[in-house]
Amino acid sequence: MAALTDLTIAEAGAALEKGDFTARELTDAYLSAMETARGLNAYIEETPERAQAMADASDARRAGGKAEGPLDGIPLAIKDLFCTEGALSTAGSHILEGFRPTYESTVTQNLWDAGAVMLGKVNMDEFAMGSANITSHYGPTLNPWKASSGDNAGKDLVPGGSSGGSAAAVAARIAAGATGTDTGGSIRQPGAFCGIVGLKPTYGRCSRWGVIAFASSLDQAGPIARSVEDSAIMLGGMAGFDPKDSTSVDLPVPDYAAALTGDIRGLRVGVPAEYRMDGTPPEIEALWQQGVAWLRDAGAEIVDISLPHTKYALPAYYIVAPAEASSNLARYDGMRYGLRVEGEDLTDTYERTRAEGFGHEVQRRVMIGTYVLSAGYYDAYYLKAQRVRTRIADDFKAAWDSCDVILTPTTPSAAFALGEKQDDPIAMYLNDIFTVPASMAGLPAISVPAGLSADGLPLGLHLIAPAFGEETLLRAAHVLEGAAGFDVQP
Ligand code: GLN
Repeated sequence: MAALTDLTIAEAGAALEKGDFTARELTDAYLSAMETARGLNAYIEETPERAQAMADASDARRAGGKAEGPLDGIPLAIKDLFCTEGALSTAGSHILEGFRPTYESTVTQNLWDAGAVMLGKVNMDEFAMGSANITSHYGPTLNPWKASSGDNAGKDLVPGGSSGGSAAAVAARIAAGATGTDTGGSIRQPGAFCGIVGLKPTYGRCSRWGVIAFASSLDQAGPIARSVEDSAIMLGGMAGFDPKDSTSVDLPVPDYAAALTGDIRGLRVGVPAEYRMDGTPPEIEALWQQGVAWLRDAGAEIVDISLPHTKYALPAYYIVAPAEASSNLARYDGMRYGLRVEGEDLTDTYERTRAEGFGHEVQRRVMIGTYVLSAGYYDAYYLKAQRVRTRIADDFKAAWDSCDVILTPTTPSAAFALGEKQDDPIAMYLNDIFTVPASMAGLPAISVPAGLSADGLPLGLHLIAPAFGEETLLRAAHVLEGAAGFDVQP
């Protein structure tokens, strides 16, 4: 039999059900794998005792015939952005040093209610700001993949971000699945860089309650997993209406795994002309064409579409997201939780705490955000960006007249080396060129590993669906996954 940590969630769940092994054995296999993979710096805090207790409880439920479902006994990693009762929850920031919440986020509570096991909290870009997992106070997470050739051969690579710890942990088989959050690409881009599946659900599908806020109108929790089926299973465990989040939508949670019929005959797949951008490497373009061919061969109808405001998505995002972040991060003043650096007086204490507690990227965003919201600039920048956002959403609305899903690349490149793009924020922001438009429109989207770059690194294809079209999205992604047959491991 394969190593327990090589099994997908679906496979492990079926084996637990058959009694091939116990949840405790599965959890212990992950805990020892975590010990040998500490060099990746994927975990900020491991919670082995809690994991074992949760696994034992799962085994007891199963023995009593009361197993909860496909997630019962499945060991997961939790992005450090989710508040977990009694366990470190820092958003990768020094300013939340030592913060152990007295409450549990809704999404993680839903997962525990479904029987899942928490292995620990995983690394991320500070406050989810970044695309390389290099802005964390806890140091960078490494991508378990290495390039086999090219300039970066053998070098340490970034796992993508901001959910870099989640993606690295799932790819390195030190978690069966992980939670992530995606504001502009933070689930999908690290998914693509690490050769696994990353799903950003529709805005409002998963509760944001207890998720440390970055940009509230964009943040959305979602699963990072090794297969589309696992993503469907995890989303079913995470999603649902929550009266504690006013933007959570009161819709029933479908059986997402049941949507994976393997049949996409007649599905209309849109290919947006505006995503064919200057400077996109030929191998990304070729993979995209390959994806089109796979879906056509599976019986889909390919439709050329236009999303005319695509090029404005990234600049508008970098106004809206920092604006909301500057407001959300105002609460970190050293008074209520986390770090406090005492000063001469109250104002001095605020200033010292924030100067020491926030890293450079977070400070940059707070400054940009405060600027675009300030009197005289609000209309010129923030209001304008919100109007652009409406246009972007309207583009998608118009596109759904002629297609059911949209296919694009996930990222303009494969994973890059640690240290690359570090001093060039614009180059870093361009990582999200293909993922941000769906975020601005609140739409569900998924990255599926689809091939290897010339240097032997994973590349992803990206599907976008209409709001609450997760079932169609997953069905198409499942077919894409099958056609790509990506079975390489780091
Ligand atoms: N990389 C983007 C940013 O830095 C997106 C991050 C995210 O989705 N949380 O804002």
